Amino acid sequence: MIEKILPGIFRIELPLSDLSLQSVNTYLLKGKERNLIIDSGMDKQECRTALIDALQELDANLEKTDFFITHLHEDHFGLAPKLASNSSTIYINAPEAAFWGVPDRWAEGFKHGEKNGFPREELDKFIRETPDFLKILPLEEMKNAVREYTGKSSRKGRIQIVGDGESINVGGYSLKCLATPGHSSGHLCLYEPEKKLLFSGDHILETITPAIFLWPGENRNPLSEFLSSLDKVSDLEVEMVLPGHRRTFQQHRDRISELKKHHLQREHEIAMVLGSNGKSGKTAYEIASVVSWHIPLPWEEFTTGLKWMALAETLAHLKYMQDQKKVTRKLLKDKNGEREYYSLLAES
Ligand SMILES: [Zn+2]
Repeated sequence: MIEKILPGIFRIELPLSDLSLQSVNTYLLKGKERNLIIDSGMDKQECRTALIDALQELDANLEKTDFFITHLHEDHFGLAPKLASNSSTIYINAPEAAFWGVPDRWAEGFKHGEKNGFPREELDKFIRETPDFLKILPLEEMKNAVREYTGKSSRKGRIQIVGDGESINVGGYSLKCLATPGHSSGHLCLYEPEKKLLFSGDHILETITPAIFLWPGENRNPLSEFLSSLDKVSDLEVEMVLPGHRRTFQQHRDRISELKKHHLQREHEIAMVLGSNGKSGKTAYEIASVVSWHIPLPWEEFTTGLKWMALAETLAHLKYMQDQKKVTRKLLKDKNGEREYYSLLAES
């Protein structure tokens, strides 16, 4: 599905087999010399066919097209390295390029997952069933881009790192990169000040609440980052939000208040769960299994992948509450090995 937004700006909706997301948006900005694709869709046949057909219909030549990726999640980045020509540039952010550049990242995450209560047998199932994300990423190209960005190499490849405040000019539009960490550590939005357009990636979406994850092993406070990034975007004058999923929308400040409210509610729910538990504490997995998720299935029927994401989202909230001195964490040894237990701090 192609929607013309403004002269030279098109929204291309690509189908996803994922039932909850349903589709992902790619934007094409057509210029005289070069075109820009904002987010590429997933490396799956249905996305690839839909994108190639749309580009043909819009008469956009891939040899003359560059890519901007809001964040390195599979549904936004997957096709970019496959479709980019040798003369294309793929713009990505530094924090995620560096994060995924660590070779043991995946294995390290699983270890921390277990420490947070993810049962060993479920973890084994998850590892068996989940394709290694690191195999999807063009790691060598990413590492080279980081080396080039940090001045350790002068070899320019297809992938180039961009950061907050840098601009990309295409088709008479000047797009400014805005660091908006939260949904991912290096998430970037693009802002066009003349027409007041915000290409928001997964930072703000109209009908979906962006998931905020703390991946086991990460030392961040992603919910706090997300809330600050919401304030940053709220300060902008925006006529139209062009999100990573679903349709475009206006009134970004109303949506931002709803998103903030949603996270407060979840925090409240986690506090209730911990409050009902006396002093013995719960693991993040135990908490995740009883709070409410927007998934119409009982916890027992969640796939291991969904449970893994619910754990990461719960950990993001717990980290936020811990930094606010509402929750405390301690490491205990039991029959399963070492486990992190969370409990509520009594109000002083
Ligand atoms: Zn997405």
